[in-house]
Amino acid sequence: MQQISTTCLIAGGGPAGMMLVFLLARAGVDVTVLEKHKDFLRDFRGDTVHPSTLEVMHELGLLEKFLALPHSEIRNVTIAFGDEEFAMADFSKLSTTCKFIALMPQWDFLDFIAAQAKAFPNFHLMMQTEAKDLLIQNGRIAGVLAKTPDGNVDIRAGLTVAADGRTSILRDKSGLPRIELGAPFDVLWLSLPVKSGDPLGLQGRVKDGQLFVMIYRGDYWQCALLIPKGGFDPIKAEGLSRFRERLKKIAGFAADRVDETITGFDQVRLLTVAVDRLTEWARPGFLAIGDAAHAMSPVGGVGINLAIQDSVATANILGPILQTRTPKFAELKRVQRRRMFPTRVIQAFQVAAQNLGLAPIMGATTTPRPPFIVRLLNAWPWARQFPARFLGIGPRPEHVRLQKK
Ligand SMILES: Cc1cc2nc3c(=O)[nH]c(=O)nc-3n(C[C@H](O)[C@H](O)[C@H](O)COP(=O)(O)OP(=O)(O)OC[C@H]3O[C@@H](n4cnc5c(N)ncnc54)[C@H](O)[C@@H]3O)c2cc1C
Repeated sequence: MQQISTTCLIAGGGPAGMMLVFLLARAGVDVTVLEKHKDFLRDFRGDTVHPSTLEVMHELGLLEKFLALPHSEIRNVTIAFGDEEFAMADFSKLSTTCKFIALMPQWDFLDFIAAQAKAFPNFHLMMQTEAKDLLIQNGRIAGVLAKTPDGNVDIRAGLTVAADGRTSILRDKSGLPRIELGAPFDVLWLSLPVKSGDPLGLQGRVKDGQLFVMIYRGDYWQCALLIPKGGFDPIKAEGLSRFRERLKKIAGFAADRVDETITGFDQVRLLTVAVDRLTEWARPGFLAIGDAAHAMSPVGGVGINLAIQDSVATANILGPILQTRTPKFAELKRVQRRRMFPTRVIQAFQVAAQNLGLAPIMGATTTPRPPFIVRLLNAWPWARQFPARFLGIGPRPEHVRLQKK
């Protein structure tokens, strides 16, 4: 079997893994990232690049180049209850360089980071390489066994980082304890075309027990229909025409294009939602970050941001150590100590929003009255900066401290 050795091995080329590999390679650490797919081209992965991530780009001197890529900018968030619109968040008062959320296909974001990292000779990206198991040596995790199109590879590393997302194999293999926080819904993703005269931006719509989110993507709307957990099979059993009727009721101005666009259930993708977290993120030689450490709900669209903030903190804490030696177990635990607080706060918000906001709406047969907080934010423009700060920056924002070598 082929054997490879590297200082830091990262399993998973999502936002957490790619940002960490970039930061460590930039600081001169020999670092290898494994991505099981052959490219980053997967749809429906969440396309929000938040003000705090844009701030990280600014600190890295990459912001101008990054924003030259095609993207759209969200400066306000509104939600419609029935036909009435409510303003919820206003990003214009943020203290960050960019006072907006950039919407960009996630594969463009990941391609961009990979292209920048290629400038560093100690950066190694292995596509179509899937981490299958952990290698253990003297009670310490010493790397992974990975599958490639050319056979299995034994990859040894001083530090192995699981950034392989919410269905992480490595966190399961590590045996680290996990708590489930639960999610009462799943998401159906689909696209609808854009027509001239459509309003732009991000829209939430609530009507007759349904919840719909529409994200403007330049030439199409990326749409999410929230359904009760396990609800897709009954929807399919009802048939396509009932499903189209359901969509037309909730799609507002885009209802006119549902029939011509949704011609089969193969155009609808089910994404199951999970909210959980590890209570311990590290073992000797091993650390979990991003969704592998804490699977996030799509509520608030903050999971990518949190994953990137984990990477920045990991690079700040462990980068200087990795430049000279293997981090000790106690040093790995410092990452968890730094990042557990924002994780807890954001997951508590997501679970409360799911259980108190979304679940009652999905259980209703009529359009409910907007909750007090929605009416308050709509009536008081000044207060809209607070949800914008929470969503756009989040608690305990991270700044790049690891220097370029
Ligand atoms: C329906 C839905 C919609 C969402 N929408 C948004 C949104 O709009 N905005 C937002 O901020 N968040 C959103 N989220 C949350 C967001 O997707 C995650 O929080 C975020 O992607 C976590 O990043 P990550 O890098 O930790 O993991 P991931 O993005 O899951 O990346 C993990 C990577 O690892 C790779 N991989 C997996 N296993 C292996 C393996 N064994 N070996 C090698 N590679 C492997 C995967 O292919 C993937 O590229 C959404 C979540 C859901 C479920």
